[in-house]
Amino acid sequence: MARILVVEDEPAIAELIALHLRHEGFELRLSSNAAQADAALREALPDLVLLDWMLPGESGISLARRWRADPRTRSLPIVMLTARSDEHDVVLGLEAGADDYVSKPFSTAELGARIRAVLRRKAPEVLDTPLTLGALSLDPGTRRVSWAGRPIHLGPTEFRLLRYLMTHPERVHSRPQLLDRVWGDHVFIEERTVDVHIKRLRAALSQAGCVDLIETVRGAGYRLTLPAAAAAAG
Ligand code: CA
Repeated sequence: MARILVVEDEPAIAELIALHLRHEGFELRLSSNAAQADAALREALPDLVLLDWMLPGESGISLARRWRADPRTRSLPIVMLTARSDEHDVVLGLEAGADDYVSKPFSTAELGARIRAVLRRKAPEVLDTPLTLGALSLDPGTRRVSWAGRPIHLGPTEFRLLRYLMTHPERVHSRPQLLDRVWGDHVFIEERTVDVHIKRLRAALSQAGCVDLIETVRGAGYRLTLPAAAAAAG
């Protein structure tokens, strides 16, 4: 389930958005200004931020710029919510780092569709799209995982971890990044936890005959990579 942080200072609009997006199955958190939004991000990265342009104090545009300049929040998906729809403002919003924008007044159906489109592009792991990589398949809807047709049984954390790695193959992920993206908490969980779950995931995969899929990159983290032999097995 995708977690969305809504930054909106008008309570009536925030409530309308929350009601609708919860109904669509999103997990919501609300902030009404920049300081609250920053505090929420420090705690845990959401999957997407719905960011109002006009906020009391620091504006949404300034927040988006600041988040884009910070390595931790650089790739955070942002949908800008704005009362302005003239072309110049839209360009300004996109230049500040928004992935898309929705102009007020908006239809809640359009808002949901825009959010899902941005998530499909930037964070496919939070949507229920079935994934395959070589002979490895993972279906978030049924929670089934298999290798060359052989079922793989995973605990909930290993499932989320594999799902994340499968949507970002061939990239090296540091332990803090994995804690942020898979656990949603980079502050209170020890980095060693990542190693424990990687070990469990490797054990479950190798039981099904799938070996060497997750590589340890010394001093950097982990990478999911599909060896040629494994790809051929599919
Ligand atoms: Ca506002």
